[in-house]
Amino acid sequence: MEQDVKCPVCLSLDEYRCVSTPFLHDALLFNCEVCGKFALSRTVIDDYLDLRMPGMTPMRRAALSHKIRQFTDNDERPSLWTTDSLSDFCEGDNVLPTPSQQVVNIIRYIGERIEESGKTLGKLPPSFHAAVGSPNRSFCMNLVIEIEGRRLITCTSMQALSGPPLVQQVGLTLSGWDIYEQEKSGKISTKTGFMALRFGEAILDALLKDHIKPAV
Ligand SMILES: [Zn+2]
Repeated sequence: MEQDVKCPVCLSLDEYRCVSTPFLHDALLFNCEVCGKFALSRTVIDDYLDLRMPGMTPMRRAALSHKIRQFTDNDERPSLWTTDSLSDFCEGDNVLPTPSQQVVNIIRYIGERIEESGKTLGKLPPSFHAAVGSPNRSFCMNLVIEIEGRRLITCTSMQALSGPPLVQQVGLTLSGWDIYEQEKSGKISTKTGFMALRFGEAILDALLKDHIKPAV
């Protein structure tokens, strides 16, 4: 039987829906509007994802949500997370994309959908920040608003009284399409992420100012 639950991964912080159903003999299958489809063994739910578990920081939860969203969007079967696979994930090099890489992901996300429909995106779905790899929805929407200010995208935005800003009618400008095409053709260096990690804001600024340069 399907049950409305709080998502054990993203904790349903923005109040999006998550349902669970029994899966195999000792697991639960989840379908979260943010994270996507995944299964957890009961030990994982009890011992590992519990709020009291110090290892599951908000950033680690966001990285896991991003990973599950990538699996779901690639139409893969729901991933089953056991205590072992989850501790491997936590001990491995599973960090979120850097803000500059998130910007590229935002542009790719928007570009791909406009290429399909020929229309701007009326709304950004609940899963948007998980697909982009942002720590949370507010962070992601603020990046969207920032790159609108830098004329990479077009959108209308409104600060909400509480919660993340509301962003609608999202499209790309010519500069945005430029980045989209460079990213598609593989000209954007994956090293960008590492550079941004080391130099932070300065690199993000340079990246946005010059758009993104091909890898040397
Ligand atoms: Zn979730």
